[in-house]
Amino acid sequence: MPKKTMQPTEEELKKMSPEQLLELQKQNCIFCKIIAGEIPSKKLYQDEHCVAVLDINPASEGHVLLLPKDHYQILPQMPEEVIARMFVVAKELSHAILKAFNAKGTNIFVANGAIAGQRAPHFMIHVFQRKQDDGILTIPAKPISEKDLMTLKNHLLPFVGGEKQQVLDEKKDAQQFIEDKKELDAEIQEEKEEKKEETKQVVQLKKEKKSEKKKKRKQKIEDDFDKFDKKEKEMDDEEEEIEKEEKTIALDLDKIGDLFA
Ligand SMILES: [Zn+2]
Repeated sequence: MPKKTMQPTEEELKKMSPEQLLELQKQNCIFCKIIAGEIPSKKLYQDEHCVAVLDINPASEGHVLLLPKDHYQILPQMPEEVIARMFVVAKELSHAILKAFNAKGTNIFVANGAIAGQRAPHFMIHVFQRKQDDGILTIPAKPISEKDLMTLKNHLLPFVGGEKQQVLDEKKDAQQFIEDKKELDAEIQEEKEEKKEETKQVVQLKKEKKSEKKKKRKQKIEDDFDKFDKKEKEMDDEEEEIEKEEKTIALDLDKIGDLFA
């Protein structure tokens, strides 16, 4: 059985804060009672954010009401996380209805405010199947001039902020591009520095090798000179020896000559 709540007088209502008014609305909300299980319902689905029940006054067979578990009167009051989850569930419910009833189409419908057809102060998404000429809901399509469309666009745009967001996104992209470019330039510079350092080392190595070669060549020349000197000295010595021998021979010849004299 639903809990009985005391209704405040008009005087008491005037004195209430927005929070107190919301609390009162919750206490009187049929859908909060359905979610709490205080009023029976044909529940189809529930998760941490939302509950789906069959509408007891369906627009068509299998008309589902998807409700946030917490009490919100209209869409703008709801956390984005809950909105996101509910529309994913609505898509799945739509798919289930299409399959179960072999339906050709569904409406996923939100009435935001009494003027839009909202009948209860608890936000909900209606999901229901459509048939040919079922007369449930047709959105009128009226012609409009290009100029009037443009005027409407310009009127709406400041409230939507879509193009502003696009410009911001583009700016962000450009900023990112500049940062990427800077990073790339820094990398290229670093590579250049490394290459420079490597080249320096190679040049140094070549220089060392060259000087080593030079040294070796010089050494060889010096060695050759030494050898040459040695050879020359040997030749000189030999010549001296020959001269000596010649002298001895001459002396001997003289001696022989003396013998025959
Ligand atoms: Zn409620």
